[in-house]
Amino acid sequence: MNKTDCIFCKILAGEIPSTQVYRDEQVTAFRDIHPAAPTHVLIIPNRHISSVNDVTEADEGLMGHLFTAAKQIAKAEGIAESGYRLIINTGPDGGQEVFHLHLHLLGGQRMRHPMG
Ligand code: 5GP
Ligand code: ZN
Repeated sequence: MNKTDCIFCKILAGEIPSTQVYRDEQVTAFRDIHPAAPTHVLIIPNRHISSVNDVTEADEGLMGHLFTAAKQIAKAEGIAESGYRLIINTGPDGGQEVFHLHLHLLGGQRMRHPMG
C-alpha cells in the first residue's frame, strides 16, 4: 500500500476525521476507532512508513520519538502510573491491518494478553 490510498495518511491530511490527542512535527496520535481498552491511542509517524520492515537507520530518531510521545500521552491520559501496553503489529502474522506504522497505546485496565 502506498501513501495515496493509506487510511492513516488521509487521517493526517484531515481527509478522514479522527479524535486527535497529540501532534508535533514528527508524530500524530489519535483515538482508535475500535478501542480494545479504556484508553486506546494510535501514535503514527507523520511520514508514511508501511511497517517496521521499512524502517531504516535514518528513522532511528523518529522511532525513539514515537516512544517519548507515547510516554507523554500516557501521562496526559492519566495511565502513566497504573500502566499500559505499547504494541506494534507487523505483517499478516503480526496482525497488522493498516500498513502505516503505528504504536498502539493501551491502558486503563489490566488486559488479557497471550504474553500475560
Ligand atoms: P493494526 O491491526 O494494523 O495494528 O491496527 C490498526 C488499528 O487501526 C485497529 O485497531 C483499528 O481499529 C484502527 N483503525 C482502522 N481504521 C481506522 C480509522 O479510520 N480511524 C481510526 N481512528 N482508527 C482506525
Ligand atoms: Zn500512510
